[in-house]
Amino acid sequence: MPETDTPLTSIRARIDAACAGAGRAPQSVTLLAVSKTRGADEIAALADQGQRHFGENYLQEALDKMPALADRGLAWHFIGPIQSNKTRDIAAHFDWVHTVGRAKVARRLNEQRPDHLPPLNVCIQVNVDDEASKSGVALDQVEALAAGFADWPRLRLRGLMAIPRADSDDHNRAAFHALAMTLSQLRNTMPALDTLSMGMSADYTVAIEEGATLVRLGTALFGPRPPKDTR
Ligand SMILES: *Cc1c(COP(=O)(O)O)cnc(C)c1O
Repeated sequence: MPETDTPLTSIRARIDAACAGAGRAPQSVTLLAVSKTRGADEIAALADQGQRHFGENYLQEALDKMPALADRGLAWHFIGPIQSNKTRDIAAHFDWVHTVGRAKVARRLNEQRPDHLPPLNVCIQVNVDDEASKSGVALDQVEALAAGFADWPRLRLRGLMAIPRADSDDHNRAAFHALAMTLSQLRNTMPALDTLSMGMSADYTVAIEEGATLVRLGTALFGPRPPKDTR
């Protein structure tokens, strides 16, 4: 294969450089390709280049795209807001859910995760900036929600996720740092937690410097989304 420069290769190079700058191993950061609004053909093209993890926000859109991609061994991550009546399909069709912010949703996902599948990987969504418009628990409620996972064997708690308010790098750095500190505290009693899902196209290098293990990139990989994204 000729070594052509693609958005995927150049972003992977930037991730690796950010890791090197932070004294971290490049394999310590997973790239999640956020494929909301993108067609199955665009996902297939990235999969052909070796991309394995894809993130979707809208359940129906994701379910529509998945059959065409079923035999490629992709890992699907649900990263959108979760309504209770959508948990059954999420539990059946995804490998990861990053946006669990309520015990009720976790309980339903646990009940509805099919037995023939491995436990569903879950991140607790944290509302780091206490924004009314965003879901997630407050930083000081993370521990209580995390403790509940002892009762949910069909879920595997992996770590924390946040979407800081779109703001300066300094603001986002502080938010990422607070999330990393919270995970570090949780690991005292739950050492298996290994995931910090933080950083998007505008701030992923900052997130990596603050310890992100998974960055969620849409526009940096695929280009700008269609302007009218009203679902
Ligand atoms: C859309 C979205 C992303 C990707 O955003 P970009 O700025 O396009 O990289 C990441 N995380 C979540 C939760 C999203 O909804």
